[in-house]
Amino acid sequence: MRILVTNDDGIYAPGLLELARALAHLGEVVVIAPERQKSAAGHGITLHKPLRMTEVELDAPVAEAWATNGTPADCTILAAADNRPAPDLVVAGINAGANLGEEVLYSGTASAAMEAALKGIKAFAISVTAYEHCVFGPAADFAAKLAHRLADETLPADTFLNVNVPNVCAEELGPAVLTRLGRRRYANSLDRRLDPRGHSYYWFSGEPMERDCDEGTDIGATQRGRVSVTPVHFDMNFRGARSDIELLLDGLVE
Ligand code: MN
Repeated sequence: MRILVTNDDGIYAPGLLELARALAHLGEVVVIAPERQKSAAGHGITLHKPLRMTEVELDAPVAEAWATNGTPADCTILAAADNRPAPDLVVAGINAGANLGEEVLYSGTASAAMEAALKGIKAFAISVTAYEHCVFGPAADFAAKLAHRLADETLPADTFLNVNVPNVCAEELGPAVLTRLGRRRYANSLDRRLDPRGHSYYWFSGEPMERDCDEGTDIGATQRGRVSVTPVHFDMNFRGARSDIELLLDGLVE
């Protein structure tokens, strides 16, 4: 099995290293990751500047490791560079920080996996629910088990798995559960400050406001100490709104 390991926290993020080590025994692992922090890069791809790849040494038994100036989604596309055969599996992570609910829209980690799904490649994204003092071991173990299972299985078309692992030690970790995305909006907080030259600048901040976090959601599962596995599809059509919108746009659309 050829496995691409990528992330959005950058090539030297400790979560990436743990993931690469955990997957190395399952096949040929190629690491391609952004050269620097690209969290919240979403599904952006690079069209207007050259993409560079620099080979790096990682302290993991991987076939190759490359840093790129591209985005996480670029990394998935770059896996095919120089006529390399497409990977059988793309794994993005282990992200420092949860990717729950609508965070999936902003997440570079999730987008790298989505890019793979769109290319017909099996993929999952995996995150731990903390930014600091991350405990990557249990997530790495789960990633290895999931990758092993996916070796002989296919995922539904255009679908990847978004995995979130509570940031606790293995003994405290609950069982994995299948979930749906909850809702986790951020309170709009826009800090305005002044730089030393008196010009204003802005900094996004704010705490998440969890609006849909019942047991069936990814948010609820991780709050209860469980590993959350959410199947995610790119289809954003809202069929339920169709009749309301038809009324709203009466005369404007046929
Ligand atoms: Mn990140």
